[in-house]
Amino acid sequence: MSVVFEGGCLCEKVRYRSTAAPMVTVHCCCTDCRKIGGTGHATHTVVPADDFSLAGAVAEYERIADSGNRINRRFCPACGSAVYHTRDGMEGLIVIRTSSMDDPELARPGRVIYAGSAVSWDHIDPALPSFEKMTPR
Ligand SMILES: [Zn+2]
Ligand SMILES: [Zn+2]
Repeated sequence: MSVVFEGGCLCEKVRYRSTAAPMVTVHCCCTDCRKIGGTGHATHTVVPADDFSLAGAVAEYERIADSGNRINRRFCPACGSAVYHTRDGMEGLIVIRTSSMDDPELARPGRVIYAGSAVSWDHIDPALPSFEKMTPR
C-alpha cells in the first residue's frame, strides 16, 4: 500500500506514516486538549490502526477523560511533541495530533467537539457542526 501522508515530532526521533487518507478531523475543546494543546483546543485526525506505522519510541500518558474513557496519549520523550492517542471506544483507530502531520493541509476539520468548554478567544470556524461534548453516536 502506498503512503498517503507522514508526520512526526519536532525532533524527528518519532516518525509515522499512514497508508490511509484521514477518515475524519475534529477540533476538540476539552480541558485536557487545551492543557496539552498549546492553545484553546487540539485538532485530531483519525486513521485506521492497520494503516498506521510508527518508527521511534514514544512515551505514554494514560488518563481517564471526563467522558469516562481511558485515553492513552503518545508523545516524544525527547522533545515532548504530542504525536497520537488511542482510546476506549475507538478500538482499531489511531487519533493523530493533526499538528504533527508534515502536511496538515491534508486534514479537513469536519466538526468541533467539547465546544461547551471552548475558550472565548479561541475562534474556530463557526460554519463547522459543533457539539457540546462528544459527537453523538
Ligand atoms: Zn521528538
Ligand atoms: Zn479533547
